[in-house]
Amino acid sequence: MRILLVEDDTLLRAQLRNALHGAGYTVDEADNGRDAQFLGDTEAVDAVVLDLGLPVVDGLTVLKRWRAEGRNMPVLILTARDNWHEKVAGIDAGADDYLTKPFHLEELLARLRALIRRASGQASAVLQCGDWSLDTRSGRVTCAGQPVTLTAHEYKVLDYLMHRPGVLVSRAELTEHIYAQDFDRDSNTIEVFVGRLRKKMLPPAASSAALADSARIETVRGMGYRLVPP
Ligand code: CA
Repeated sequence: MRILLVEDDTLLRAQLRNALHGAGYTVDEADNGRDAQFLGDTEAVDAVVLDLGLPVVDGLTVLKRWRAEGRNMPVLILTARDNWHEKVAGIDAGADDYLTKPFHLEELLARLRALIRRASGQASAVLQCGDWSLDTRSGRVTCAGQPVTLTAHEYKVLDYLMHRPGVLVSRAELTEHIYAQDFDRDSNTIEVFVGRLRKKMLPPAASSAALADSARIETVRGMGYRLVPP
């Protein structure tokens, strides 16, 4: 898989390059918007990591041009801290995901994997893990074919985990994706949501055979949670 890395901060770009290489990606690089646009137009990239604050041509303009040209590769934008306007503009311009600086390299890699997985058609709009099913279009959740009613927060926790079966997701990461910008973020409530999910996402006939077919959410002590397929 090939990643176009666009970042004008030399140090950060080097860190990202090393992380991407370490994850087995081929990396093309640009440190300004003009070169980024050229590479995105001419190279077969599987995904783009795009800083928005760039010299020559800003990242948002580059992204808008790509989308106007019909280039639909997944784009993960990098935004400045405390600039929620940038996130909104980037997503409206066609970004598939964003990260706010500073960020953990592990999180960037996890997000890229998800973008590529979706773009490559390995994940349908209906996420499936064992007997658990989540339709990202309708929000319908089922367990062993039976509909399950979740609160908005429970749904968001499950949605995030279902996109990443088998992947360790930290509480902090979950928290970031569940609360709006101005919401009072308390990562302890994540534990409550997960506890409720575990109770709700049980097969109707809780026999050992049914449970063996069921997915589950594993707690990794001190780290976070992992959705485990049967
Ligand atoms: Ca920048």
